[in-house]
Amino acid sequence: MSAAAPVAAQPWDVPGQQLAVDVLRSAVQRGEVSHAWAFVGPPGSGRRAARWLAAALNCGSFQPPCGACDVCDRCLRGAHPALDEFVPTGSFHRVDEVRERWLRTASRSLVEGSWRVLRVVDADRMNEAAANAFLKGLEEPPPQTVWILDVADPDELPDTIGSRCRSVRFAAWSPDDLDAEALRLGLDDPTDRALAVRAALGSPLTLRRLAWPGGLDDLRAHRSIPARLRREGPGAALLVTRALDDEVKRRLAAVKAEGRAELEQLAERAGDSLPRGLVRQVEDRNTRREREARVATLQAALDDLLGWYRDCLLVAGGGAVEAVLHADAGDALRADADALGCARLLRSVDHVLAARDSLELNVQQGLALEALLLELSTVAMT
Ligand SMILES: [Zn+2]
Repeated sequence: MSAAAPVAAQPWDVPGQQLAVDVLRSAVQRGEVSHAWAFVGPPGSGRRAARWLAAALNCGSFQPPCGACDVCDRCLRGAHPALDEFVPTGSFHRVDEVRERWLRTASRSLVEGSWRVLRVVDADRMNEAAANAFLKGLEEPPPQTVWILDVADPDELPDTIGSRCRSVRFAAWSPDDLDAEALRLGLDDPTDRALAVRAALGSPLTLRRLAWPGGLDDLRAHRSIPARLRREGPGAALLVTRALDDEVKRRLAAVKAEGRAELEQLAERAGDSLPRGLVRQVEDRNTRREREARVATLQAALDDLLGWYRDCLLVAGGGAVEAVLHADAGDALRADADALGCARLLRSVDHVLAARDSLELNVQQGLALEALLLELSTVAMT
């Protein structure tokens, strides 16, 4: 595969986030970049701005970020070694992750670039031990290091951490912004786009998942699970588990291919002079991304299921079908709502929430899923 030429981006192009971008741009221009930032907003809303900040701090042009050079391009794709992004592998960031990955990465010397940018995704999902371990790192920041904490709910972030961060607000994406983004991501069909925009619930992160090839097909498969369990009984549990496993495999293959392409591009650029340390860093990050993708795919499937059950509850409670997330599937919603009724819907939601938490234990995910689906089919049959 040959390396694609970087596509020039308009510097600081972040749709719908002008106020936040102004704060960051002026901090860079004045050379007053805080070593810790809290990007407060819906999940995923600060991602592009964080990558622009990494580009601005590492781009070698006269007026960084230029948006056109190789450094900017790789920062924006999340593929530059000076930029690391930490995603929780379960419901919470764990203390061993903080010590062994975050703080260790922060203390390592850079193999490329001059500023290290470390972005913590869902930073409000740290448990107490993780927060205490992180606080130590935040109190003694290595030079030329910037932490960016993505925070959806500032109340969930311990004061000791929040008070050390400069806060920037990111607006929730409007349906129009999401619609434009969905179009940019290749969702040409208006029905598909409308479903993706509603199901994204203001989050560009969720929208990206749905806009992935097959993303909406997966969503539609997930929301049909209750009807399948009802019609086909416990036998469907195994089939649905297999289908989810295939989905994980597809997603992993895509993540692996991305990782390989990234390494190939690096090798092509650097020729024989590619430092071994850099290759190792990229490989480590790719391995981590594969692990994260496995859990994230299953959790997303369960989130889709929860969204469907919630819609069923609204309909079962007399709500209008037009007002729900899955408004395009009104008949199926009414059928599930009528067949299950509020009490069984609530029990189903409890089972899904419990299974979602257990996925982070990282063992026997297939068994945990199968157990969940059997429980759901039992609830549907009783
Ligand atoms: Zn540049």
